Amino acid sequence: MGFDWIVVGAGFTGATFAERMATAGKRVLIVDRRAHIGGNAYDETNKHGILVHRYGPHIFHTNSEAVWRYLGKFTDWRAYEHQVLGLLEGKLVPIPFNLDSLAALFPRKAAARIERALINQFGFGKRVPILKLRISEQPEIRDFADYVYRNVFEGYTLKQWQLRPEDLSASVTARVPVSISRDRRYFQDTYQAMPLLGYTTMFRRMLEHRNIEVALNYDWKRSMLKGRHSRVLFTGAIDEFLDYRFGPLPYRSLRFEERTLQKLQHQPVGTINYPNDHKFTRITEQKIITGQQAATTTLITEYPQAHEPGVTTAYYPIPRDRNRLLYNSYATVAEAEFPHVCFAGRLADYQYCNMDQACARALKLASQLGA
Ligand SMILES: Cc1cc2nc3c(=O)[nH]c(=O)nc-3n(C[C@H](O)[C@H](O)[C@H](O)COP(=O)(O)OP(=O)(O)OC[C@H]3O[C@@H](n4cnc5c(N)ncnc54)[C@H](O)[C@@H]3O)c2cc1C
Repeated sequence: MGFDWIVVGAGFTGATFAERMATAGKRVLIVDRRAHIGGNAYDETNKHGILVHRYGPHIFHTNSEAVWRYLGKFTDWRAYEHQVLGLLEGKLVPIPFNLDSLAALFPRKAAARIERALINQFGFGKRVPILKLRISEQPEIRDFADYVYRNVFEGYTLKQWQLRPEDLSASVTARVPVSISRDRRYFQDTYQAMPLLGYTTMFRRMLEHRNIEVALNYDWKRSMLKGRHSRVLFTGAIDEFLDYRFGPLPYRSLRFEERTLQKLQHQPVGTINYPNDHKFTRITEQKIITGQQAATTTLITEYPQAHEPGVTTAYYPIPRDRNRLLYNSYATVAEAEFPHVCFAGRLADYQYCNMDQACARALKLASQLGA
């Protein structure tokens, strides 16, 4: 059968694009080198009957009504607002660091003084990036910011990226600001929920379309269809697509350790961060985020590690100026040499994006290309 579009990668970007094009009457082949759909949002039931996120915990949150409505055609939702605690000085305190974290870790009078200073300078309810707090004109706020920087950001960033916060793009630390409030939610988005039956079920419904054919365990690198005339959306790694001709784009990888305990619940909240202790960064209790009812519970521990192309999985693009320049060289060549190929997604754009952003990008691209 002839295809109008070949989509490489069945994650959020590829599946959204494929569904839109198919619904617009185009015939689509979607391929993935993995044995499953869903990309990094893939979930499956482990041998203990617990639904686990195979590539790290994925919490859905968005301010986009269009994305919320679009995905809602393929899943019912379970309301869920994610909470994270960090182990600091032997105490579990809210992350993002907020006024409750301050009260838990500082002497009472000092905490009250700092709280007043923060509210006066920034206003109650504001979320302020740590690097901005560190350059405050008020010495009291600067000292407080130095404490938070050392105890919450520095160790975690070193573990996660093997770099100090100031050697990364400011967008990285800005993702987890200091919150001048008592709001314990990790995200503030309008819509926060988890797909009721999991992400894989949602993806299956997106791709169950008479105009879509799915081919798994199918690596585009070795495809016989390469160079034929269908249009291609490529959501894999752009440096790999171009045979690493300028050298590999740097990524961080992760190793996940899974253990199941014979108890109802182990942690007080979905995720606990360990900024300063241990080699791992965080532990997530699957049942808390998925809402599954079961007598046992599964915990996933994340160990950051170096990435080696072809050996480990590329998880996080490393956001630094020099890496962006390297990506730009790839993007320029890709556009010039492969005009029939569109590149989009976290690996093709070499850009961290949340699931809703990947979906929004694919919706926009599909609409620009006639869907
Ligand atoms: C640890 C971690 C936790 C995260 N948590 C959250 C979260 O809580 N909330 C949130 O909104 N976002 C989260 N994200 C981000 C989320 O994973 C991404 O937004 C999403 O995966 C982007 O989808 P994508 O389709 O662009 O890429 P992917 O999901 O990576 O899909 C790309 C697909 O392309 C396939 N592919 C690549 N090359 C080839 C090839 N040559 N041939 C065939 N197939 C190929 C891959 O196998 C993969 O399945 C997290 C990311 C990570 C790493």
